[in-house]
Amino acid sequence: MKLLPIPAFDDNYLWLMHDGADALVVDPGAAPPVQEVLQRMGLNLKAILVTHHHADHVGGVVELLQATGATVYGPEAEDIPGPYSGCQGGQVLDVLGVRFEVIDVPGHTAGHVAYFAPALSPSPLLFCGDTLFSGGCGRLFEGTPAQMLDSLDRLAALPDDTRVCCAHEYTLSNLRFAVAVEPGNADLLAYQSKCIASREQGVPTLPSSIGLERRINPFLRSREAAVAASVRQRATQAHSDVDVFGALREWKTQFR
Ligand code: ZN
Ligand code: FE
Repeated sequence: MKLLPIPAFDDNYLWLMHDGADALVVDPGAAPPVQEVLQRMGLNLKAILVTHHHADHVGGVVELLQATGATVYGPEAEDIPGPYSGCQGGQVLDVLGVRFEVIDVPGHTAGHVAYFAPALSPSPLLFCGDTLFSGGCGRLFEGTPAQMLDSLDRLAALPDDTRVCCAHEYTLSNLRFAVAVEPGNADLLAYQSKCIASREQGVPTLPSSIGLERRINPFLRSREAAVAASVRQRATQAHSDVDVFGALREWKTQFR
């Protein structure tokens, strides 16, 4: 199975997987860029995986569905366009012969799901939509800090070599914030230099990996002493883990 990010809008990636003949696409916010790749590579679209209901993730679903007859999978708890197969945490899907485990990750939206392929070669793979970004996490539009922390804990527990396919190229701005939170993190500084070089060459910073995110992403590190201390300097009322996480997310939203 080959994996490739299709850039769309300003900073979205529509992830495509294919075996040379059949393909699946994740969160197609627009149909034309997907159609272009399918035609150029001679691929049949068999499945569409949707992580959550936002327009930049579902805008192309109906058009692709009508053009290809692909099967659509999406969160049962949300309203996704077109007839689709509703998924929820704990469910296992077989898509193009790949085993995907559905993981509930509420926070960004109330019914957000992630798709995890544990047995894929050369390493496991995660489609996490707008829940986990490289160096960051999604905004809390429909969920609480407690829900998001719990969702991110679930993703952080996946194997270190899991490839993390996020839906946006937000890495550089996330890392500027991460360095403000944890200026003494050498892994973070090295990763930031590497990502700046990638973007100067127009290369995606993704996929990332769970092992890397555990070392550099402040939202997976909010219980680390250095991160919590940095948050508590600004949010003196932040006592519990959830308080610290919530204050960190709030700080990111204000950060310029
Ligand atoms: Zn979203
Ligand atoms: Fe999005």
